[in-house]
Amino acid sequence: MSAVNEALIRDIVGEVLGRLGGVPAPKTSAPAPAAKADCGCNGKSHAATPGARGKFGVYADANEACAAAQESFLQLQKAGVAARVKIVEIVKAMAESNAEVWGKLELDETKIGRLDHKIEKLKIIKLVPGVEWLRPDAHSGDHGITLEEYTPFGVVGAVTPSTHSIPTLSGNIVNICAAGNAVVFNPHPSAARCAAIAVRAYNEAIFRETGIENIATIIEKPSMESFAAMCKHEAVRILLVTGGPGVVKAAMQTGKRAICAGPGNPPVYVDDTACMKRAAKAIIQGASYDNNLLCIGEKEVFALESIADKLMEQMSQNGVVKLTNAQLDALTKAAFTITPGRGGGCGHASVNKDFIGKDPIVLARAAGMSIPAGTQLLFAETDANHPFVVEEQMMPFLPITRVKSLEEGVARSLEAEHGYKHTSIIHSHDLEALTQMGRALDTTLFIKNGPCMAGLGLGGEGYLSFSIATPTGEGVSNPRTFTRVRRCVMVDNLRIY
Ligand code: NAD
Repeated sequence: MSAVNEALIRDIVGEVLGRLGGVPAPKTSAPAPAAKADCGCNGKSHAATPGARGKFGVYADANEACAAAQESFLQLQKAGVAARVKIVEIVKAMAESNAEVWGKLELDETKIGRLDHKIEKLKIIKLVPGVEWLRPDAHSGDHGITLEEYTPFGVVGAVTPSTHSIPTLSGNIVNICAAGNAVVFNPHPSAARCAAIAVRAYNEAIFRETGIENIATIIEKPSMESFAAMCKHEAVRILLVTGGPGVVKAAMQTGKRAICAGPGNPPVYVDDTACMKRAAKAIIQGASYDNNLLCIGEKEVFALESIADKLMEQMSQNGVVKLTNAQLDALTKAAFTITPGRGGGCGHASVNKDFIGKDPIVLARAAGMSIPAGTQLLFAETDANHPFVVEEQMMPFLPITRVKSLEEGVARSLEAEHGYKHTSIIHSHDLEALTQMGRALDTTLFIKNGPCMAGLGLGGEGYLSFSIATPTGEGVSNPRTFTRVRRCVMVDNLRIY
């Protein structure tokens, strides 16, 4: 049987089994099948029918998903670095070629964000670093040669958010597998269906090209129980969680090493040395992206009193609509539930999930106003204690607060960031302000004079990842994040000079 026919038959079998198992066959485009890869398995792997086991990585049971990933890690170890390179190539190519279909699937399932940006987030997976990041470090001297190599852990247990399900999953596979690991995903329940479709499509193509099965597995119906089972499984060596405070806390309590890409509430400070037009455009670009779902997105602005009006004028000139106080009050009532504090004290506001990632028109309706078609963002002047400032609200609305000085701007920013150490942004050409803000905020990303996405190599220098490890300190994740450094020492010999 020719390689092409064999692949075709596998596709059909996979499709039928997928439909029977509840995960619909993806209408995806995969790279054309290459000549049959010599994967070194002597036909053993090919003898098994993928689809019958785990439906190309999609598992009902967490323990089975972890065990399959462990088996896959062993296959990848045997297949070597060339197979890792191939896997990275496949994931990047498929994320791009399926961007329209998968972007729509994700939006249909989660109902948050914007289609154009859902598509773009998949097209840029090609910017995530791969195997080239794993060059060993060498020491050479009178006593020989020492090599420090970046080696895999085995299986990584990963949690993905609802805000960017397939992009996070795809970028994680690139980083994790480039480093020689396999991965098991416990995705967000409200974005699990699209995630399973992508996992299945990746596995089909990876099996066809490399003979390796189940390099990324996924728990089809994720729950707190499946999260606990994944974390507990002996094959899972480390965790990568991308999400809010709850899951970060839960991961840190498992006893396993957890790389945590946690929540943010990025403040922006603008002073009188900034270019107002450039600042306004950058703030709009970042805060409106995917309806402000990005964890790095501009969430509140502190503007120096002397330029606050100019900044707001520039925002209005660039298609953003300002709310009156009455409209702001109406929107706040709809977007938050305020629980009064004890004895009439300061209460707590929790975000109404119905408004997260929704289009500006939905927010405008709640504010009792109409806005021109194509409006990307709304804004209003608020005080520094307003729920829109304090909470990570993830809506296309931006609160702007006046501050009297650099010191007040920095102090307010620090307060709003809640010590997440995630992202902060400044628009200024005053070296003192840039330095003070950078030192005081102490965030993982600190962006000067650009939109938030410049912090991930999109308009600034650097590389991309959708998992920015903030409380645990690994930073913008990359293949080295998922490696163990091992030292190999040759005493007295092999130094050739
Ligand atoms: P979320 O915290 O609701 O969910 C994230 C994941 O954690 C989901 O898979 C969810 O099922 C799981 N989860 C939640 N609570 C849990 C618990 N107690 N135990 C086990 N699992 C639990 O987050 P979301 O709404 O999907 O995503 C938005 C949040 O993620 C925001 O706070 C955002 O800042 C953050 N985020 C951070 C990064 C980063 O790189 N640092 C990237 C994207 C999103």
